[in-house]
Amino acid sequence: MKTTQTNQYHSRNNSQNHRPNQRRQQQDVQVEMGQRFPLTIKRLGINGEGIGYFKRKLVFVQGALPNEVVVAEVTGIKPNFLTAKVHRLKTPSPDRVTPRDAYAGEVGGFELEHLAYPAQLEFKRDVVRQSLEKYQPKGFRNYLLKPTIGMTDPYGYRNKAQFQIRRATDGHVMAGLYQERSHKLVDLETCSVQMPATMAVMRTVVNLLEELDVSIYNEKKHSGLVRTVVVRVAAGTDEVQVVFVTNGTNFPQQADMIDRLQTAHPEVVSIMQNVNSERTSLIWGDDTYLLAGKPQIREVLNDLQFNLSARAFLQLNPYQTVTLYAEALKALDLSPDENVVDAYSGVGTIGLSMAHAAKEVRGMDVIDDAVKDARENAALNDITNATYETGTAETLLPKWLDEGFELDALVVDPPRTGLDDQLIRAILASKPKKFVYISCNPSTLARDLVKLTRQYRVDYIQSVDMMPQTARCEAVVKFTRI
Ligand code: SAH
Repeated sequence: MKTTQTNQYHSRNNSQNHRPNQRRQQQDVQVEMGQRFPLTIKRLGINGEGIGYFKRKLVFVQGALPNEVVVAEVTGIKPNFLTAKVHRLKTPSPDRVTPRDAYAGEVGGFELEHLAYPAQLEFKRDVVRQSLEKYQPKGFRNYLLKPTIGMTDPYGYRNKAQFQIRRATDGHVMAGLYQERSHKLVDLETCSVQMPATMAVMRTVVNLLEELDVSIYNEKKHSGLVRTVVVRVAAGTDEVQVVFVTNGTNFPQQADMIDRLQTAHPEVVSIMQNVNSERTSLIWGDDTYLLAGKPQIREVLNDLQFNLSARAFLQLNPYQTVTLYAEALKALDLSPDENVVDAYSGVGTIGLSMAHAAKEVRGMDVIDDAVKDARENAALNDITNATYETGTAETLLPKWLDEGFELDALVVDPPRTGLDDQLIRAILASKPKKFVYISCNPSTLARDLVKLTRQYRVDYIQSVDMMPQTARCEAVVKFTRI
């Protein structure tokens, strides 16, 4: 979240630098830290913060909603914008609701929990609109932006809790997330967006860490054992995997921990240890060991089986994943004689969901383990027309095309950074007749559309809410070759 915000502000700064008059006016505004002033909120920014203007200067107000009048208190002063918090809410929005999680304003991932769900869905479509306005790809005013597909119950959907473990000053063990822009841990005893099963197992683990007096990691001293606990549930089978990320290998109470955890939760079928002895804020170390049960849990999506190892990527919301893939499949509209490439394939979930409708599926991912999982998943489902290769999309797609592979349909699902230029060039040169872009970042999507629309028309953009209560937005773009 932090990186995203920085990027957003940078890009805003850049766009404003083209307007010298406005910049001069903005710099003239005299403000001090802690200064308070009334402010009307105009809209939500792409990270879910309220946006208003104080004497023409852009102000980002965490937690404020459109049409609200607040007394803002300045918390940060930058050349082109201010940040502020709500000192007092003068006129609340009719869409304001009480967040279920008391810590919602403190930790990342709950940016919109104070906004009624229908308004959250409208916001996610608006984020796409704002990004298009900024980059202005060809014809953008005419794109059909379909209403965001949401969840009937937008809570309890997250299949994975990855919580930091620390000891509080009073001695009890805390498990939670860091406060935004700080290293203060917020203990999350409950969490409304997590599946109940992840939290139940997490709380048992925390109690056992206390009862068995397991050594807990101390970040300042870089001492102690347990740093992070990851609990993942496979919604299709209810199987649960627990991973202890530890600073060092020796886990003296391991046998008792395993025994008591499995007794309390028979659904925990996989207990792993990942060793990370580095002084780093990265979660995972290189080595993962099986402590008990099996090394993978089994997920089921679209009637397909997937084995998940500890570090395998899987979408965090299994219910909406099915919807997202169905949207991608609908937009591709494959016929049985067509070859499809699933670029950025992860463990193969998208391509394997399409294999029955295509002649051949090829996928690639930079992570070798993910590619191995994808191959294993193809075999697990008796799918014989799908192959996976390790490497980047930008090198492998051109290579396959050079080798004579006939690309009929392409689906790309890149990380937040969007598509590499080299890949865009390969797409524009080979012009597959069918093309779908699944994006988890409307900004990089809009940027990429500027180039892609040289050869493709955007038929529609369908946003899908994969992460209710957060500002994250996922979208499926259907193209037609010009
Ligand atoms: N399609 C999958 C995974 C999407 S996440 C799913 O729906 O679950 C994006 C994936 O892109 C990750 O697995 C990441 O390892 C991979 N990746 C990142 N950069 C890449 C690149 N340049 N080329 C190919 N894969 C890449």
